Amino acid sequence: MNDQFDVLIVGAGMVGATLACSLARTALRVGVLEAHPPQTGWDNHIFDLRVSAITAASQQIFTGLGVWQAMVAQRVSPFREMHVWDAAGDGIIHFDSAEIGEDRLGYVVENRVIQKALLDRMTTLENVEFICPARLASMDINAESAILQLEDGRSITARLVVGADGGNSQVRQLAGIGTRGWSYEQKAIVATVKTSLPHCETAWQRFLSQGPLAFLPLNNGGCSIVWSTSPAHADELLDMDEQEFMSELTRAFDAKLGQVVECGQRAAFPLRLQHVDTYIKDRLALIGDAAHTIHPLAGQGVNLGLLDAAALSEVLGNACDKHLDIGALHVLRRYERWRKGDNLVVMAVMDGFKRLFGSSLEPLRKIRNVGLNITDAVTPLKNQIMLHAMGLKGDLPRLARP
Ligand SMILES: Cc1cc2nc3c(=O)[nH]c(=O)nc-3n(C[C@H](O)[C@H](O)[C@H](O)COP(=O)(O)OP(=O)(O)OC[C@H]3O[C@@H](n4cnc5c(N)ncnc54)[C@H](O)[C@@H]3O)c2cc1C
Repeated sequence: MNDQFDVLIVGAGMVGATLACSLARTALRVGVLEAHPPQTGWDNHIFDLRVSAITAASQQIFTGLGVWQAMVAQRVSPFREMHVWDAAGDGIIHFDSAEIGEDRLGYVVENRVIQKALLDRMTTLENVEFICPARLASMDINAESAILQLEDGRSITARLVVGADGGNSQVRQLAGIGTRGWSYEQKAIVATVKTSLPHCETAWQRFLSQGPLAFLPLNNGGCSIVWSTSPAHADELLDMDEQEFMSELTRAFDAKLGQVVECGQRAAFPLRLQHVDTYIKDRLALIGDAAHTIHPLAGQGVNLGLLDAAALSEVLGNACDKHLDIGALHVLRRYERWRKGDNLVVMAVMDGFKRLFGSSLEPLRKIRNVGLNITDAVTPLKNQIMLHAMGLKGDLPRLARP
């Protein structure tokens, strides 16, 4: 193993691995530290419990990195339309990709498929070394470099360390970077189900008083569900036997896709909103969930992280071309300025939605239902929302541009 790198990425999740692949186009020597060996083989008849709704911008990033075809070859599920409605009223909004001349709004892709395609690519890159399994123990940053001690006693030096180690980022904690945010007092239950009616390549979401319930279409005719609800209710749902859970799910979804007739394993994830005080320090940058976590109601979390990775790689590539120090604060500031504001806007909008639809106050209930119906009727406004949700608006990194 080398012990000196230009960039050391801690965490080879979807975001860290994307950054590593993006840096292939630079002359930088990159190390990627990952605690858990990646999943390589699985029973393809069963969909991964964890899936991500991938925007057009993220698909573009994967295409640019040469990994999208590998994902398609494994399995991806397109969705053309999105249907959202409020359980406590008559508010409905329907998005159709055809209205903006696109053939789909996005894809639902299993996390393990994304992960494998990226890691397969990453491990072929000459300038990238994958250090796995290995866990960070401590970190010391001085004027010239970051020195990282691993739990197995090894020591690594890098000009820049990137924390891509998820919501509980150890890099962030060791760097003493604070966070702001709150728990949503909700858990999201995920499972793969089959319904008696076809999903019509549509992503469905019903806003219930305790939280949104989404059915994301899979290409075997089934759906991946994300059901956000109070922790007590989530625990009850997890404890139910399969038949009872399927009846409860059918009822909560107002039988929009008929009866839920099959259901796989269930798991729950606590939900919180979290945003770091700063994305950067001398010789350090944070990307993905290490910098921000948001409510999954619009499926934006990993998409924001992929844009962080693409933006940071572009900033570092430009700095290399100009022979600048890639770990210097003035270089990294360009990355923070680029991504922090955009992420904050998406986080605020998602948080606003969560609060608006979680409220049982009568005036708010009326406003949101009228708002949904007006937005549904005003085509230009609806089309702008669609373009934003697809990641096709804003100041996109080169890698994410069509
Ligand atoms: C229920 C649910 C549904 C979601 N649906 C969507 C969706 O549809 N679309 C979407 O865009 N987003 C979605 N998200 C959000 C998305 O899952 C996250 O944003 C994404 O997984 C973050 O990826 P990451 O690579 O930043 O972090 P992680 O996936 O957490 O990866 C971090 C990596 O770092 C490694 N690591 C951690 N600590 C160390 C250490 N000390 N040393 C070495 N390695 C370490 C871990 O092993 C891991 O591999 C959803 C989230 C939830 C909870």
